Amino acid sequence: MAKHREAHRTQRIGWLRAAVLGANDGIVSTGSLLIGVAAAQTTHDQILVTGVAGLVAGSMSMAAGEYVSVASQKDTQQADIAREREELASDPEHEHEELAGIYARRGLERGLAREVAVQLMKKDALGAHMRDELGISETVTANPLQAALTSAATFAAGAALPLAAAAFAPAELRVGAIAVCSLLFLGTLGGISARTGGAPTLTAALRVTVWGAVAMAFTALVGSLLRVNLG
Ligand SMILES: [Zn+2]
Repeated sequence: MAKHREAHRTQRIGWLRAAVLGANDGIVSTGSLLIGVAAAQTTHDQILVTGVAGLVAGSMSMAAGEYVSVASQKDTQQADIAREREELASDPEHEHEELAGIYARRGLERGLAREVAVQLMKKDALGAHMRDELGISETVTANPLQAALTSAATFAAGAALPLAAAAFAPAELRVGAIAVCSLLFLGTLGGISARTGGAPTLTAALRVTVWGAVAMAFTALVGSLLRVNLG
């Protein structure tokens, strides 16, 4: 008999998602920024200064956003759990009814729902309520500071790619080089992350590349409009 081996990879999605999002953001926002200023016919130095400023600003913004998001998620979850623990201590009968009601709504017959609630609560009352009432299957273990640093670092790594293209490409090829390099990096990253997560590789690569292309085309348009009107 074949062994039932089904690799679920959703657990891996947490950190992977954060890292890929950071790098994606870095590539798209810095690539677009650079294309916008390059399309407005800025000098090489001005483009690089803009790119570095964009990299630093973006990293800081990612760090701040991630810190606030993880910290508040953690706070909310802990408050929910504390309230649940208190309710379980103060009114266990009501909590049994509540859980049984949840199982009944999911399709269990009333008596069975009650029995399931009793047995699950005997083993781990708080865990049962967390899972089935609050929908918390896993407590937030991420450290906000660590999450902030990871986001900032992955954003900076992503941003460095189009910045390098801008730095080394000859002036007449600059816009194209930034666009092509950025889209190539985006596609590769999207493909790798999809493969790691067990999702269809090509679809993911294509999706992220199309969105990146839209972002860059838009800033290129704005940049060239500015050149016409200001230059
Ligand atoms: Zn409850």
